[in-house]
Amino acid sequence: RTGERTAAAPVPTHCPYCALQCGMNLTPADGGTVEVSERADFPVNRGALCGKGRTAPAVLASGARLTSPLVRSDDGALVPAGWDEALDRIARNLVRTRAEYGADALGVFGGGGLTNEKAYALGKFARVVLGTSQIDYNGRFCMSSAAAAGTRAFGLDRGLPFPLEDIPRTGCVILVGSNPAETMPPSLRYFSKLRENGGTLIVVDPRRTRTADQADLHLAPRPGTDLALALGLLHLVVAEGRVDEAYVEERTAGWEEARAAAMAHWPEYVERITGVPVPELREAVRLFCAPDAAMVLTARGPEQQAKGTDTVGAWINLCLATGRAGRPRSGYGCLTGQGNGQGGREHGQKADQLPGYRKLTDPAARRHVAGVWGVDPDSLPGPGRSAYELLDALGTDIRSLLVMGSNPVVSAPRAAHVEGRLRSLDFLAVCDVVLSETAELADVVLPVTQWAEETGTTTSLEGRVLLRRRAITPPDGVRGDLEVLHGLAARLGVEKGFPTEPEEVFEELRRASAGGPADYSGIDYGRLAEENGVFWPCPATGAGAGDGSVPHPGTPSPETPDPDTAHPGTPAPDTAHPETPDPDTAHPETPDPDTPHPGTPDPDTAHPETSNPDTRHPGTPHPGTPRLFLDRFATADGRARFVPVAHRPSAEEPDAEYPVLLTTGRVVAQYQSGAQTRRVAELNAAAPGPFVELHPRLAARLGAAEGDPLAVVSRRGRAVAPARITTGIRPDTVFMPFHWPGEGRANTLTNPALDPTSRMPEFKVCAVRVETVPR
Ligand code: SF4
Repeated sequence: RTGERTAAAPVPTHCPYCALQCGMNLTPADGGTVEVSERADFPVNRGALCGKGRTAPAVLASGARLTSPLVRSDDGALVPAGWDEALDRIARNLVRTRAEYGADALGVFGGGGLTNEKAYALGKFARVVLGTSQIDYNGRFCMSSAAAAGTRAFGLDRGLPFPLEDIPRTGCVILVGSNPAETMPPSLRYFSKLRENGGTLIVVDPRRTRTADQADLHLAPRPGTDLALALGLLHLVVAEGRVDEAYVEERTAGWEEARAAAMAHWPEYVERITGVPVPELREAVRLFCAPDAAMVLTARGPEQQAKGTDTVGAWINLCLATGRAGRPRSGYGCLTGQGNGQGGREHGQKADQLPGYRKLTDPAARRHVAGVWGVDPDSLPGPGRSAYELLDALGTDIRSLLVMGSNPVVSAPRAAHVEGRLRSLDFLAVCDVVLSETAELADVVLPVTQWAEETGTTTSLEGRVLLRRRAITPPDGVRGDLEVLHGLAARLGVEKGFPTEPEEVFEELRRASAGGPADYSGIDYGRLAEENGVFWPCPATGAGAGDGSVPHPGTPSPETPDPDTAHPGTPAPDTAHPETPDPDTAHPETPDPDTPHPGTPDPDTAHPETSNPDTRHPGTPHPGTPRLFLDRFATADGRARFVPVAHRPSAEEPDAEYPVLLTTGRVVAQYQSGAQTRRVAELNAAAPGPFVELHPRLAARLGAAEGDPLAVVSRRGRAVAPARITTGIRPDTVFMPFHWPGEGRANTLTNPALDPTSRMPEFKVCAVRVETVPR
């Protein structure tokens, strides 16, 4: 390792983990790592960090770090090799597979943690260099259902269509299947401030999480029934005369059908389905409808279901009927999980999309992007398989796979099956910073740079495009993902078009995204450095602004993204055991979210027309768009769409053989598949391994005591972990975190039943039986 500083002063950058993308300063330190210090000027967290962010430097200098390519030797071991040998071997195998089986026998699997530049380059590499349609990424496992539902209702998906700073200014927030107290602790201050300001917080979660502990009302539905819950609330809204008729008339379409669907869900019927008592439903409606502004925010709970799109759609219907969406300090939003979950789904690593969040099937989008890439639009492949379907086809239709920034052996549903599919490949190449469980199976492993060692952009859960800066040089022997793609493209006969400098890639991304729904053409590295991020859409203005087809924020693009879509490897309502030491204590000087962020207009006065490039002086940079839909939605007629939805059971319901429901999620001290955080001693001390959380009544039935090993068995496999007994979970449900491999791997159990629209697997609910295991 060289570990040399690249700047004299502390380098302002962002955390490598979740979608909050907290700002931090980095100063190079001994041992090839960096020291983290407070970056108070970044408005989202104003210096506050959770334990994962604070300890992130430990991964830079971890002994587990890969510093040489590895290749599979004749005797089956992974042995060090030179970069040329490793890249040559990958290129040779890709060419061989393509010659033997065709281009679609080549698969590419990306990640929601990749920077925008990497996600863009990976999608271009798959389609231009490999010529394959078979590319998708682990973001499909994250918020794809929210993306699909948002697109269906509003014509555009941006996780939060308003900044976090609006939360304390609203009157009521319903948090559905989200536990920010553990997934993104610094964000909890926004909700605390909401309550200090007199607003109310309602949490919908089968578990009494740390976030639910702080709520004014906690609704604990049976897993997989939150669609019915939303319908029951909408029924009461109608029955109690709380519909905002003028808003519905002026700004929406499809109300009568949605109303009829909701009216078929009587509160007593909903109580039977969900287990939530009718008085609690009535109280939720009262709290939500009383103030003049309110929000619904969803996360993985409602989204990671085989009916996730409709479940989110039901919550959006509630927002529309009450006149919340597209109004100041109000609306529907998704709390995206992975670090670049938002940007990762916008720039072309998804099976169905091109850069700028354009549909791959849209002829105009294909022409535009092909023009930027200098290729024939007809040469671009069509949409490929979604993430789970791609993994399921390994070893049969797909013979060789390149994985970048993902660890599906731990994070994919039905993980033992997916592991078997990976083992059956003719050839597997993995780029990672450590030897992840997926990398262990590879024929070639490439050690790549991470976070503080590279520059690039991410897009946070707010739709705020941010600049991560390089603070130290990478270890000797390690290269960037962009260098990997450059080297492979050259070996596959494409000498140009894959620069290794991130800014050069971003400049091309700007052009490729111009005129699309996620328009970055008015953003450059200089602005990002000066302005602490810029919200998209941000079209270029003045000379060089392209063809002039800059969309008004909130107007439909001719290339509105396909609802089939989605974001990062995924999280869920997350929780640690109440007795777990909390490494995520927010900094004492956590920001006051009541203080407006510099540069964001007041939501009560901001109007989309103020940011309309058509009405501003030519050449004036577009200010970005913190708030969407205030004037109109991004549909052809400007109206939001109600979609009639009805309750339906989960893909697996309990029966005599599998009588208990399993739900999965995260704990505060680990992140996603744990490939990085399991290498951090402080985090491991706080969360050393998996567990099975269960109610005392279920424990008594099993004869299990705290800490006893329990086997959880589903139709797909068996996982063993110690019991954690708590009254904070429903008696009919057990919970397991999914961060670990081995015998406690929760995703061995999960159900890959897919949502028909988003292709999201049903991580959040399946039927299991629980057994004690002799010690
Ligand atoms: Fe990083 Fe924690 Fe902030 Fe997420 S909440 S960005 S993990 S410091």
